[in-house]
Amino acid sequence: MHELSIVMSIVDSAREQVAKHQAARVESITLEIGALAGIEPDALEFAWEAAVPDTVLAGAERHILYVPAMAKCAGCGHEYEIQQLFEPCPQCGEYFSDLLQGRELKIKTMTLMAND
Ligand SMILES: [Zn+2]
Repeated sequence: MHELSIVMSIVDSAREQVAKHQAARVESITLEIGALAGIEPDALEFAWEAAVPDTVLAGAERHILYVPAMAKCAGCGHEYEIQQLFEPCPQCGEYFSDLLQGRELKIKTMTLMAND
């Protein structure tokens, strides 16, 4: 289950930020997940429950922004939303396209709680 290693790397990044800013813990975190990032929301939830307790992320409010996958047609330049890779352009039927977004998996924002 690769969601677990993803959550663990999120925990690592959070720990670094907390240490860098000498904060107590993370108050809230917003993740950005692309439609084609290969993340199962249920598996992510499960991994979160397993990996986060006893870390700086314990008790943090979690928000997830799902980013739709967008492609740009190499033939006509049309930009369109895709559900999977290699979907033909709805305007001209061309299969070659550049993926503009949809594979990201990152921490978008994080709010830290200061030490008293
Ligand atoms: Zn096209």
